[in-house]
Amino acid sequence: MKEMSEKTGIVDTLEERQPYITRKQEKGQEIPLACDNNSLAGAISQRACVYSGARVVLNPVTDAVHLVHGPIGCAGYTWDIRGAKSSGVETNRSSFSTDMKEIDVVFGGEKKLSNAIDELAGIYRPPVIFVYSTCIVGIIGDDLEAVCKTASKKHNIPVIPVKSEGFKGNKSDGYKAACNALKQLIKRPEKKTVEKKPEIRSESKKPDIKHSKIEKMEIKKPKINILGDFNVAGDVWLVKPLFEKMGIEVIVSMTGDSTAESISRAAEADLNLVQCSGSMTYLAKWMQQEYGIPYQTVSFFGIEDISIALRKTAEYFGSEEMKKKAEKILEAETNRIMPEISRVRESIKGKKAAIYMGGPAKALTLIKGFAELGMEVVIIGTQTGKKEDYEQISYSVRDGTVIVDDANPLELADLLVKQKADLMVAGVKERFIAYKLGVAFCDFNHDRVVEFEGFDGFVNFAKEVDASINSPVWKAVRQRTLNPEPLEPKKTMVESGQEKATIKEEVSEKPYSKKCKGLAPKPEFLHSGQDAVVESEV
Ligand code: SF4
Repeated sequence: MKEMSEKTGIVDTLEERQPYITRKQEKGQEIPLACDNNSLAGAISQRACVYSGARVVLNPVTDAVHLVHGPIGCAGYTWDIRGAKSSGVETNRSSFSTDMKEIDVVFGGEKKLSNAIDELAGIYRPPVIFVYSTCIVGIIGDDLEAVCKTASKKHNIPVIPVKSEGFKGNKSDGYKAACNALKQLIKRPEKKTVEKKPEIRSESKKPDIKHSKIEKMEIKKPKINILGDFNVAGDVWLVKPLFEKMGIEVIVSMTGDSTAESISRAAEADLNLVQCSGSMTYLAKWMQQEYGIPYQTVSFFGIEDISIALRKTAEYFGSEEMKKKAEKILEAETNRIMPEISRVRESIKGKKAAIYMGGPAKALTLIKGFAELGMEVVIIGTQTGKKEDYEQISYSVRDGTVIVDDANPLELADLLVKQKADLMVAGVKERFIAYKLGVAFCDFNHDRVVEFEGFDGFVNFAKEVDASINSPVWKAVRQRTLNPEPLEPKKTMVESGQEKATIKEEVSEKPYSKKCKGLAPKPEFLHSGQDAVVESEV
């Protein structure tokens, strides 16, 4: 009972949502947070559906045709929601849909799908076609696998069904569906036989330098894959050169700036570096079992995490020369960017950040990034975190930080106010929650047009945080919220007589506040640094 009343105090929400919001726990304590469940009906989760999860992972494959089998609305998740850049072909910027109508729902959509594949294969001649299933396809039971198999034989290319019916689970299930599709593209390397499946090695264990792979590496150029980097705004292009300078070849980044051909060679790698663990750990584990390729979880955001990524990789390959090269890069790059980072630190001193991410890996790396900028994190949440992720998050933040799973907009708004956040870092759906409250915002997800990874990316991030926090616009927003102007006179159609209608000007006598009661943020939503006292209800 005591626990419940404490939780109620964090944020005013539905009773069933209360177990999903808690505060930081001490190291070693189990975190009392419910997570990794399907979203609560009626709670208006920020999460997207299974299909969307699959689409965000696969859509950056640049030369693939992405065909959505379903009503046109589902196809709205296009390149625009993951502006992944390409260094070559850009077939992925076009979005295709079978545009299922009522008649297809009644009589089945297989023929329509088959015709759409034929048409697209003829026009684009792509090396691969991904066919996404949506809710209605799952309901009517179109046999996607059979249609894709037939089309694959006919066109002599992989036509891969992505089993991503929207209702089948949550966004994480979509990640898994995407990984299952990628598995079908990865080819077993020639002359590389895995006689005995290697034991799955925990990444925390030291690499076995007697491993046969290492012996091969001494005579071959070391090769890695980057899993879970989507080249948003060109991120990968700031990361790959760091490894190349260390003498390592990056075969493919999955899926940012990837092609069907580069993905097919992924099993030639000696090591997988997993950045987005939520979406790609499943694939990394499969590659370890299937091809004996170990994986390590890394991040390319922030000075500390980039340093860890480079050092861990050099350590794995066990080459002294590579270690020296890594240290040289780190020293030179850190010295180069520190003057700008120091300037920003001064400018945003004492400010508080809220983090709300799709996956836990990004949330964790952001905690470190903010520490490097001298900012404190007061709210942290994700859409798809698991118990162990939240425990790690909990141990990494300061006392009093609120941790939330699968939040809805009202909870986030309430938290921003109660925790006195100065900046929210999240994705496109959270942007307007912050804007309406006059809280600075930084898009860390799909819509951004500036790179945040690598050393220059971290400088970009720092500058964006600084510009947003110190923008004069927030003062104006808060003032407007405190002193809302009366509504514009409203024109109403009034029935009069048989034929004519007259227009009557209606000016609400009730203040704006009363009309919006319960919908608009309350004045206490305006927090630190506010320059006015509010008495009326907004
Ligand atoms: S797959 Fe289902 S939940 Fe997802 S966008 Fe389409 S209809 Fe909506």
